[in-house]
Amino acid sequence: MQQTKVNKTECPSPASTAQALFVQRGLRLTRIRRTVLEFLLNARIPVKAYDILDALRRDAPKALTPASIYRALDYLLQEGLVHKVGTLNAYVACAECCPERHAPVFMLVCPGCRKSREVNDPALYQTIFSTMQRQGFQLQGDTVELTGICPGCARQEQSCSI
Ligand SMILES: [Zn+2]
Ligand SMILES: [Zn+2]
Repeated sequence: MQQTKVNKTECPSPASTAQALFVQRGLRLTRIRRTVLEFLLNARIPVKAYDILDALRRDAPKALTPASIYRALDYLLQEGLVHKVGTLNAYVACAECCPERHAPVFMLVCPGCRKSREVNDPALYQTIFSTMQRQGFQLQGDTVELTGICPGCARQEQSCSI
C-alpha cells in the first residue's frame, strides 16, 4: 500500500506555540488556559478532561478543579485552538493551525489506539453540508468525525494474523 504524504503547514514547538497563538489572535491569556493548551499540544492525541486534570494536578494540586478545566477547554474550543472528539469524549489540540474560529474540520478517529487525525477539506465539507441541507438537516458542530482503523493499527492487525 502506498502512503500519500500529506503536505501541511508544520506548527512550531508546543511550548512557544501556546503563547504565540494567544498573542497572535489577541486572546486573553490566563495561566490555566495556557497550561491546558500546552498540555494538549504536547499530548498530540485526544485526552479526556479528567485525564488532563489528573496530569496537571501533579504540578498544581490545589489550583485546579474540574470546573476550571472545563471552563478553560470551553474557551479553547470557542477560539478554535482545541477540537472536541465526541467519539472519544476527549479533546485534542488543533493540528492544522486552523486559520479561523469554528473552522470546519474532519477528524479521523481510530477506535484501536484512540488516536485522531485532523484533515481540512473545505470542498468536501461543503458537499456534506449541502447534502444535509437538502434533506432539511443542519450539521451539528464544526467537526465531522469519521471512525476508521489507522495505518499503525492496520499494520499490527496484519502482523498478528500471520
Ligand atoms: Zn483545527
Ligand atoms: Zn489506531
